[in-house]
Amino acid sequence: MSCRSVVPAAPPVDGFPSDFFSVSAMNQHTRLDTTPIPFIDVAAQRRRLGAAIDDAVSRVLNHCQFLMGPEVLDFESRLAEFCGAKYALSCASGTDALVLTLMAKEIGPGDAVFCPSFTFCATAESAALVGATPVFVDVHAESFNIDAESLKKAIATAKKNGLKPKAVIPVDLFGLAADHDPVAAIAKQENLFVLDDAAQGFGAAYKGRKLGTLGHATATSFFPAKPLGCYGDGGAVLTDDAALLERLKSLRVHGQGKDKYDNIHIGMTGRLDTIQAAVLIEKLKIFPDEIVARDRIAQRYSAALADVAIVPKVADGFTSVWAQYTIRLAPGKRGPLADALKAKGIPTAIYYPIPLHRQVAYKKYPAADGGLPVTDRLCEEVISLPMHAYLDAPTQDRVVAAIREALGR
Ligand SMILES: *Cc1c(COP(=O)(O)O)cnc(C)c1O
Repeated sequence: MSCRSVVPAAPPVDGFPSDFFSVSAMNQHTRLDTTPIPFIDVAAQRRRLGAAIDDAVSRVLNHCQFLMGPEVLDFESRLAEFCGAKYALSCASGTDALVLTLMAKEIGPGDAVFCPSFTFCATAESAALVGATPVFVDVHAESFNIDAESLKKAIATAKKNGLKPKAVIPVDLFGLAADHDPVAAIAKQENLFVLDDAAQGFGAAYKGRKLGTLGHATATSFFPAKPLGCYGDGGAVLTDDAALLERLKSLRVHGQGKDKYDNIHIGMTGRLDTIQAAVLIEKLKIFPDEIVARDRIAQRYSAALADVAIVPKVADGFTSVWAQYTIRLAPGKRGPLADALKAKGIPTAIYYPIPLHRQVAYKKYPAADGGLPVTDRLCEEVISLPMHAYLDAPTQDRVVAAIREALGR
């Protein structure tokens, strides 16, 4: 509409109808302004990988070992090597990675599993699925990650409720490593198992150590939209603990003993498909490169938006793989911003609008005494912008310009 008014009528050229060029000019103008852009461009990565993926999948289609084929073991050793963990065990999803680990540690009814409320539901769901009680912990506003002081309160709350503190699941939210040292110190004191939920943060580092090596075990997800995603569901557990690995291997295949028909545990169907492992081998090769690209894009956003919004901060000793680029605005401001961007073809997302401790399925579980004020506030303030390794500068500039315009700057 505004385009029509600003594009001047072109003079007739060489016998073409007079509106021919103005129409094409107008279309071009429209395209620059409002062509929908993807929130995460999975197709751009697919184009880059091209035949490598087709070939990898074809190999599996030809050898027909669709479960536990050679690519699965190959991928597991590459994944462990990538992050510096001794062992990697692939599985069917990030949720299964969490659940299998809690099962392996025999965590269940009467046990408290501490986790943030400001996270994807699967973190707490894993505890509930094994019959344990998730106990919610507050986060730091600057990092969106677990607050050790709140963890101490939550441990006291759990004990008061007659629960046995057993495990803590710090989450590396939006790709940023949590502050793992204070969590480890409390865990040591309280004898808690530390299960890092790196579903969003795998590839990031904390004080020079890659995620996958912090805590007693790390769970990650290969859901397509995660920084390292496959073409379906997938996940993995990383650990240095050989006994835990053996138990996980058994639980992943129905608690098998010497074979599938020797059942020594109650387990599940939790394997990663060989086709997904084949895809992941190819994706892991370009992952380091993509992490660099994501960081460059995040820095660009931060430089362009720091004066109009609270932009994410990455403290010294931490890195992020930018699963999300999430800014904060004063309450009430993000709705109009999302609408203004949507009108220009720019998607946004809110992670997370309702914290877990206020969700229908989870509100019966305890939260640290004194409540989770930071979590409650963040749920009103956060909004995530398009973010992926293939977001080019002109497209990003369009996002930035639209945000500055909507916020009146
Ligand atoms: C995605 C995600 C999971 C679960 O992963 P799935 O592979 O979808 O089961 C767990 N925790 C967090 C923080 C996640 O973002």
